[in-house]
Amino acid sequence: MERAVIAIDGPAGAGKSTAARMLAERLGYVLIDTGALYRAVALAAEERGVSWDDGPALGALASELDLVFATPEPGARPPLLLDGVDRSGDIRAPHISQGASRVSAHPAVRAALLGVQRRMGEGGGVVLEGRDIGTVVFPGADVKVFLTASPAARARRRCAELRARGVDADEAEVEAEIVERDTRDASRDVAPLRPAADAVQLDSTALPLDAVVTRLVDIVRQAGFSAR
Ligand code: C5P
Repeated sequence: MERAVIAIDGPAGAGKSTAARMLAERLGYVLIDTGALYRAVALAAEERGVSWDDGPALGALASELDLVFATPEPGARPPLLLDGVDRSGDIRAPHISQGASRVSAHPAVRAALLGVQRRMGEGGGVVLEGRDIGTVVFPGADVKVFLTASPAARARRRCAELRARGVDADEAEVEAEIVERDTRDASRDVAPLRPAADAVQLDSTALPLDAVVTRLVDIVRQAGFSAR
């Protein structure tokens, strides 16, 4: 049976990363966390003294970086290797979230990462998680889902995630940060955050994670692809 290209898009904190990882595990597919690529560009820029506002320099930097996802431990997300070094922890720092959102607004950065993402996904058997997978990266994806939730629910989840990693987090601050990032992501000129016309929209505000994953598996089955 043919192996699908599955696009899971949506705003920060909608539960995409865990749901996409669990879906990939259920299907025996590879997970591609495209946000990690933008985060890696922000991190590399910071370390090399390139401003997050300098689009041309960021585009050149993004096209030089060696970005690879390593095979994950069961239940973990694929480690991101930046120039051969696992930087998965460093790219999750809160200021890098804002940096990723800033660098991702530059057309040159998006253009540089487009080819990387398409090469990673072209063989199928992949779940790509991001903002513009169904609209730009794989407009012909076999399955497209736009996963969302209220800002308060997303802030609550993001705080729980941060606290689990030992990072102190204030819910009101996290909500303001999420809303700022969404506004920037949705209002940029290139590849803004929005559902593809043919995406299934799923609101996870009142849905526990396992219900979201069950629903995703159903959507994949209805599209004619089978879970293992
Ligand atoms: O998903 P994550 O929070 O790791 O993404 C970090 C940032 O990268 C997002 O706020 C967004 O600005 C950007 N991004 C994007 N397109 C994607 C994935 C992420 O612009 N496909």
